[in-house]
Amino acid sequence: MSDTLFTNVRILDGTGTLPYSGSVLVQGNRIRQVGRSTAPISPAGATVIDGAGATLMPGMCEAHTHFSWNDAATLAAIQTMPLEEHVLWCAKVAKKYLESGFTSCLGAACAKPRLDVVTRNAINSGQIPGPRYLAASQEITVPGGLGDETLPHLPFPEFSFGVNVNGAEDMRKVVRMFLKYGVDSIKLNLSGDNFVPGANSHTTWMTDAEVAAAAEEVKMRNKRIIVHARSAASVKQALRHGIRLIYHASFTDTETLDMLEAARDEVFVAPGIAILYALLNEAEPWGVTRETAVSWGYQEEWDAALESLSKMHKRGIRILPGGDYGFAFNPHYQNARDLEFFVKYLGFTPMEAIRSTTLYGGQIMLQPHELGVIKEGFLADLLLVDGDPLANLSILRDPKRLLAVMKDGKFAKAPEIVSQRAWGQAA
Ligand SMILES: [Zn+2]
Repeated sequence: MSDTLFTNVRILDGTGTLPYSGSVLVQGNRIRQVGRSTAPISPAGATVIDGAGATLMPGMCEAHTHFSWNDAATLAAIQTMPLEEHVLWCAKVAKKYLESGFTSCLGAACAKPRLDVVTRNAINSGQIPGPRYLAASQEITVPGGLGDETLPHLPFPEFSFGVNVNGAEDMRKVVRMFLKYGVDSIKLNLSGDNFVPGANSHTTWMTDAEVAAAAEEVKMRNKRIIVHARSAASVKQALRHGIRLIYHASFTDTETLDMLEAARDEVFVAPGIAILYALLNEAEPWGVTRETAVSWGYQEEWDAALESLSKMHKRGIRILPGGDYGFAFNPHYQNARDLEFFVKYLGFTPMEAIRSTTLYGGQIMLQPHELGVIKEGFLADLLLVDGDPLANLSILRDPKRLLAVMKDGKFAKAPEIVSQRAWGQAA
């Protein structure tokens, strides 16, 4: 692997420090040296990329990813895609996420038992390009809850988006199956969702005995539980059982916020607010008018979520971008829009939004000491961006402005002028 030297870049290192001009030397898959412009780095055989003042920042992390959601409008239409097409779909999406600047993605559930595991393994073995990826199980739910798509006349689990469990021992069996398949995370649907008839976002139907059984099995194998938790009761249930990655967390009360704050050094919240926004404002072509979305309860949830998440942010709870892209009305590859939403609706500064997808990204990927920051010794996951993301976050979702994407020291998207001076050969 050839070494790479980025010179004449504006370094936005991910920690919250103001950007500074300098150079970054990548050797192998790691950042070897970070220099301010006053202390030039010797290229020593590296391929030199003159950034001409562009921003160099850490790769972004998508904290709530569903590669297998196939941009369909319904859960059933995602689930019924034939397996062969579905595997190819996941490979395509993984590649495009990486090219879109997401060098890390945390799987938040897949649509068939092994889709996430197979995709992760193919990325790690070099068969397909893709981000660093933590693989999830399917959604585990209870009959009538979010993800139970079985029909009365077709009671076959293969037709269901999520896996139904009934009782603690049934939960244990299902969790053990997914752990056997090699998932990094077990996904539980603790609350409902407003589009599910009879199981809206306020409902919390999984029993403590079921959640405890899952938690016991997952802990034994040193894996992680991640939860869909929109209701206040479901967020509290998650925290009671030691669950540290919470998706949505729309509805909270003071007790919930206090519990989150008490665990803030360990807890991550990835709300995925873009789907709420999309259902209220952009889903009409797929039959969900604003009026419909409001009648389902999404305006109430949007208002509650903005209030809850703003309070969490003020209390120092880590909130990360990403989430639930892969529906027709909230399609893949626009994921970086979350950063703009965090600023517009949750009271983040642009720097805090950047930090949430970089520094916190490394932490949520369980690699806090080597991922998510431009620092000597850290993994070389880097973006070269044309412009200043702090002045305009939307450039992060413009492919033309992403001049280069590097993961693990290799270009997933190479800059157009790869090298102005190959010093090793010139010497
Ligand atoms: Zn999700």
